[in-house]
Amino acid sequence: MDSPFAFLLPAYMAIFTIVFGLVWRWYRRSAFWWAFGFLWGAIGFAMPLLPQSVQNDPLGYLAADGCFVLSFLGYSQGLLHHIGKPHRHRIVRLAIATATMAVCGYAIYGAESTPLQYVTSDVSCGLLLLPVLIAMRRHLTLRIDRVLFAITALVALETAGRGVFVTLVLLAGHPEYLRTIYGFEMQSVAAILGMVWGLAALAAILLDVVAGYARDAITDPLSGLLNRRGFEQALAAVPPQGCMIIGDIDHFKRVNDRFGHLAGDGVIAGLGAIIATALPPGGSAARTGGEEFAIFLPDASAAEGTRLATSIRQHFAAADWREIGVATPLTASFGVAAIEAGDRAFQDLTARADAALYAAKDAGRNRIVTHEPQTGVRFMPETGFPLLLRAAAAG
Ligand code: GH3
Ligand code: MG
Ligand code: MG
Repeated sequence: MDSPFAFLLPAYMAIFTIVFGLVWRWYRRSAFWWAFGFLWGAIGFAMPLLPQSVQNDPLGYLAADGCFVLSFLGYSQGLLHHIGKPHRHRIVRLAIATATMAVCGYAIYGAESTPLQYVTSDVSCGLLLLPVLIAMRRHLTLRIDRVLFAITALVALETAGRGVFVTLVLLAGHPEYLRTIYGFEMQSVAAILGMVWGLAALAAILLDVVAGYARDAITDPLSGLLNRRGFEQALAAVPPQGCMIIGDIDHFKRVNDRFGHLAGDGVIAGLGAIIATALPPGGSAARTGGEEFAIFLPDASAAEGTRLATSIRQHFAAADWREIGVATPLTASFGVAAIEAGDRAFQDLTARADAALYAAKDAGRNRIVTHEPQTGVRFMPETGFPLLLRAAAAG
């Protein structure tokens, strides 16, 4: 290796090791494996800095090959963790790594062939990325992941290609070529590509971290539905047309009092799951308060909203909660309202759905009250019993 790289490569790889190590603190396993990869890369590239006696020892050659194999195992594991498939092609990758070390050992101690050692080490490192590229193909929805995939493919080609080229140069009897300006440029390309690769991986992991926090900011952890902020964002993104359902578990305080807060949490999560399953595509559902849920169905009529509320109410009433320690069946009440011509904000709609929910509670719970547009009449679909609007009921 040429001297200008002697310090540069291990230094930048050591920096990447530290940076990925810091990112690992955000619980990203992929960052750990990238740090692992760059650490072994740094050690491998630092070997030319050792005294000549160590460098020229056959064991030194073998150790350097081992470092690069370990570093590529690290990068490949980091990439697979990033796409959520850490175990993919594990046997193949370990087999490539083991075979590489066996052939390198033979090349150094048996055949005493530097070209064979070169071609084996570099081509295998490139080859280690092949199963990863195959696995990554199906996980390229984000632009940064497509960039990472493309650079990984380039690194694989460049590493394997360089291995073959250097071997041919050695076989042709021109080892001095590697010390010319062309050899220097070849190493430069490899170093820059490696750096860009690391930066792309870092960007992909950090964007993933940010996306995770952004998701958490609008998600209710207990029910898995949107939280109030997420629901408001969802409403802001749809045209003002559709239907709102507000649901509230009946006598929920008693559930907590009789069976404990933890069991109450389980019931909230259970209703969240029922709503998530029932929610049609395009709809938004949120846990807006303690045991209160809201659903918005864009373009849906009050009748369609009532049908969905009916299905959720029936599923909830039929659910068996004994597994989470709640010995009695539970019920919930729902208010349904559709957007009307005079509405100026979603709050108008929410207020009507809320008033309908209170009417359902007033009328005995475990039911749905639908606010009928224009007539000012609330309608209980399952009983067919119309309720006149009463200010007291809404209060
Ligand atoms: P109603 O039929 O009129 O709705 O009666 P309710 O008892 O359900 O209504 P109320 O609003 O009085 O009680 C709601 C209870 O929900 C009070 C509160 O302790 C409980 N709660 C709020 N958030 C949570 C939570 O995250 N987990 C649990 N387990 N309970 C919660
Ligand atoms: Mg309640
Ligand atoms: Mg409530």
